[in-house]
Amino acid sequence: MTVKRIGVIGGGQLAWMMAKAAQRLGFDLIIQTPQKNDPAVSIATEVIFAPIDDKAATIELADHCDVITFENEFIDLEGLKPLEKRGVRFCPSLKVMTLLVDKYRQRSYLQHIGLPVPKFTTLENLSSFNFSFPIVLKVRRHGYDGQGTFIIKTPEELEITAKNLEGKEVMVEEFVPFERELAVMAARSVTGEIAVYPLVETYQSNQVCRWVLVSGDISTEVQKEVKQIAINLLTRLEVVGILGIELFLTPQNQVLVNEIAPRTHNSGHYTLDACKISQFEMQLRALSGLPLDSTELNCLGAVMINLLGYEHSRQNYLEKRQKLSEISCSHVHWYGKTNIRPGRKIGHVTVLLEKNEITSSSKIRRQHLLEIAQKVESIWYSQ
Ligand code: ADP
Repeated sequence: MTVKRIGVIGGGQLAWMMAKAAQRLGFDLIIQTPQKNDPAVSIATEVIFAPIDDKAATIELADHCDVITFENEFIDLEGLKPLEKRGVRFCPSLKVMTLLVDKYRQRSYLQHIGLPVPKFTTLENLSSFNFSFPIVLKVRRHGYDGQGTFIIKTPEELEITAKNLEGKEVMVEEFVPFERELAVMAARSVTGEIAVYPLVETYQSNQVCRWVLVSGDISTEVQKEVKQIAINLLTRLEVVGILGIELFLTPQNQVLVNEIAPRTHNSGHYTLDACKISQFEMQLRALSGLPLDSTELNCLGAVMINLLGYEHSRQNYLEKRQKLSEISCSHVHWYGKTNIRPGRKIGHVTVLLEKNEITSSSKIRRQHLLEIAQKVESIWYSQ
């Protein structure tokens, strides 16, 4: 089937970045999003203004495009299933989405196919779970950026948090005292072709991603193991689209899969500037059947730093963005959000290491990239 018009349920920054890739590839992008000031509205070919879980709007969206993809998980899966039965093409399929959007169901599936995961259970079954504090509580659906993830240190905290979450389905898992957090983007095309990007290191503070390092400073064994995990997952699920895979690396060098996002992901934003083909273009290539092409870096390394809101404002922070763009080899991406609040992702900066820079070792590269991240954060968060 020839794909010309691609529908996206969602119009946030991921759809905004996807729309730029769509323009480059000559696709029309039609989005379903609630607000007229959502990031992708200004750049999409066509917009259907409606909430993400509005089924009637998705029926209209389906009438306007050849295939529908996702940029978030706030969808009404049950509502979409009759559409798929009627022949509407979703990428990834709703079978894949059903397995992945619920954290508990996802984790059970990963365990079922033999992937290494942290120990987990449901809140109802906690009494039969052999655990010691700290533990981690996660709301099974609709959590993002740490919203819905709670690190619990005492029985008292557990009681209070469980009470606050009453009525919600909750997963519980062991706290992993990880050495590092890792992530990888991996795509599978409608033709079965698979492409895996480099393994990167991420850093979260209060469960929100602050920066992503692309330094190569991860052992070859771990890189190989994660690549195999990505390939297994894409193949077994017959995914058509792209997955963001988040992992923990333990002090014993054990890899544990934390979470899978069935879409483009913050940990892959660096690909916009550091790779020939960005994760957004890769997603479009995968669902349209174009060759996936290269996932290689076009530089020696990179660091992506999220620009998080640190106050309530409607500013555009032009002066700070100017300063950030003066850093050598930096690329500033501004999502144009009008309603800024603390912790909200409002842009990001990627700084590349040129091929002739600091070539000696991945350890030195990592250190250098960390220093750049600190510099960017000190400019951004200075009052
Ligand atoms: P979200 O879907 O909100 O991003 P995650 O499961 O990715 O939720 O958790 C966000 C962050 O919380 C992780 O990146 C990690 O830093 C921390 N975290 C989550 N689960 C655990 C765990 N089991 N042990 C230790 N830290 C965790």
